[in-house]
Order: sequence, then structure tokens, then C-alpha cells
Amino acid sequence: MRLASGIEKFQTLVYPQMRRDFRELESGQTPETLFITCSDSRINPNLLTQTKPGELFVIRNAGNIVPKPGTGELSVEATIQYAVEVLEVKNIVVCGHSHCGAVTGLMNLDSLDSMPAIKNWVRKSEKVLDQVNHSDEGRICEAIKANVLLQIEHLMEYPYVAKAVAAQQLEIYGWVYHFENGQVEFLDQEAAVA
Ligand SMILES: [Zn+2]
Repeated sequence: MRLASGIEKFQTLVYPQMRRDFRELESGQTPETLFITCSDSRINPNLLTQTKPGELFVIRNAGNIVPKPGTGELSVEATIQYAVEVLEVKNIVVCGHSHCGAVTGLMNLDSLDSMPAIKNWVRKSEKVLDQVNHSDEGRICEAIKANVLLQIEHLMEYPYVAKAVAAQQLEIYGWVYHFENGQVEFLDQEAAVA
């Protein structure tokens, strides 16, 4: 298995150089950012942001979706609550990406009829379908952006998120990462809460 040789390389070449960082992290974590992104294997949050262990608190799922609070998605909800109320992160980044399969599935819901778990999950972003002009050739790109902004809307429905934002203790950002050329679009998050 290739992963085992990766661990061996990490332990012999990488860990010795980072020993001090990891030892310091034994006393706890103080990440400043909750980074919400897609499960897509082409996205590597630490590589993209050049951050080290201890710097990003991460939620990943298909389509970087933040369900509305109270809808029973406790994995996401509990992780957001821990980030905001316990770790008191200063930033939340929702990072979508180019060529996102989850958003492409959302735009073609009928293609997911045989995969109900995926269909029901991406439908949490169904509002995107109301916002994107279906005749537009670049509709997947538009949907990827609209999907990020929708998740910011959902985040603001979490009372402790809204409270921290109002108190200027927390800022929320929407990004779209184009992995094929390394570019990042910084979206206007005001559009999300308008
Ligand atoms: Zn994706």
C-alpha cells in the first residue's frame, strides 16, 4: 500500500524537522481559521494556504455544504459550534473549487436518481438552482460561486456565528479555488447576506 511508504517517509524525513511544532501542539490547538471545503482529492487546504498543523480547523464534505442549523447534520453543526464557541476562531473560509463534482451533480439532479444519499445531500444547496441562469454556458462556474455564497447565508443562521460576526470577533470569507491554475477568486461576501 502506497500510504504505508508515505508514513515511513513522513516519520524519517518530515517529522524530525517538525518535532518541535508537534510538541508545542501537545498543549492544545489555537487555530484562527475554520476552513470549510470540498472532499475533492485535488484540494489540499494546507498546501493552498501554506499553513502548518495547528493552523486550520477543517470541515470537508462533498460540495463544501453547510446545512442550515437544526436540520440534523450534527457532524457539521457540532464542528462549527466547537470552532466558534470553544476555539473562538477569527475567520471562517468557505472554499469551493473549479470542476466540483458535487455542484455538477446538483445541476444535473436527475443523474443522481440511483444515488439517493448524494442526491439528498447536494439538494441542501438546491437554492443555487434558483439563482443560476440555466441558459448560461458558464453555469457550472456560476453555480460553484452561488453555492459558496449560499453556505455563507446558512452559516449566518447559526446564532453563535451571527453573534460573533456582529461583535466583530469573526469574519466570513467565500473563495473559489481554481486548482488547475492556482488562482483563488475572493467572492464578495456582502452578496451572500444581502
Ligand atoms: Zn467539489
